[in-house]
Amino acid sequence: MGRLEGRAALVTGAARGIGAAIARRFAGEGARVCVADLDGDAAAGTASGLPGESYGVSLDVSDRESVDRVVEEAAERHGSLDVLVNNAGVTHDNLLFRMTDEEWASVMDVHLAGAFYCCRAAQRYMVDGGYGRIVNISSTSALGNRGQANYSTAKAGLQGFTKTLAAELGRFGITANAVAPGFIETEMTRTTAARLGYEDFEEFAALRAKEIPVGRGGRPEDVAAAALFFASEEASFISGQVLYAAGGPKA
Ligand code: NAP
Repeated sequence: MGRLEGRAALVTGAARGIGAAIARRFAGEGARVCVADLDGDAAAGTASGLPGESYGVSLDVSDRESVDRVVEEAAERHGSLDVLVNNAGVTHDNLLFRMTDEEWASVMDVHLAGAFYCCRAAQRYMVDGGYGRIVNISSTSALGNRGQANYSTAKAGLQGFTKTLAAELGRFGITANAVAPGFIETEMTRTTAARLGYEDFEEFAALRAKEIPVGRGGRPEDVAAAALFFASEEASFISGQVLYAAGGPKA
């Protein structure tokens, strides 16, 4: 028996990177996964590699109507919606004095409005089913990070959002927790490396690994392992928590 046997999950931003690793891990544990991503074709490609009844769908989490539609379709197709992972994310880094209104707003829209829309839509089905697991992907940037006034604010906001979800939804059998990854090797960190002028990502990754107590960069699977714990039935007494998956201590 897998740890998510019979459960229906929706993972946003799941075509690649951390979201795809979460979708793979969940499906491997028996879940039927709705792999949702801005890029619908890529989402379908990721879903086609998963065991069981998973499928891919195009979704912009910052578009409320699309979120409502995709969540409703997922719940109808699988008969319930038991697990939601708010993973979709973007960075538009800049120092504060250069940051544009658009860079600020687009990061807020995807991380904060996106998680809000998805949770509001999903809780209806979770409350009806008397069961739910919400996992929000925050970041160590929530503790502050140069060049990321928008992103660190959004990721810190997600932590407060998570604790409030835990307080409001616990009575319905729903838990809400956050995973806050440190440096994970994905397209997102490749973009960061390029922005900082590194031609060789491996050089950037090696430098980052030196700052990490366990002596290596994180892999998407490291975050998926933490998400799986929160998503599992056995984590029913753990809610409103933030787990730093960073290879060392964080707040
Ligand atoms: P990634 O490789 O860039 O993947 C992010 C995925 O989200 C992409 O497939 C992207 O689609 C999708 N996406 C972007 N905007 C979306 C939207 N509006 N609606 C739906 N999907 C959207 O990034 P990642 O590193 O796996 O990051 C996943 C999450 O972990 C993010 O929330 C990120 O902030 C967080 N995180 C990452 C790290 C790290 O070191 N990598 C550390 C801490 C936290 P497109 O490709 O079509 O744009």
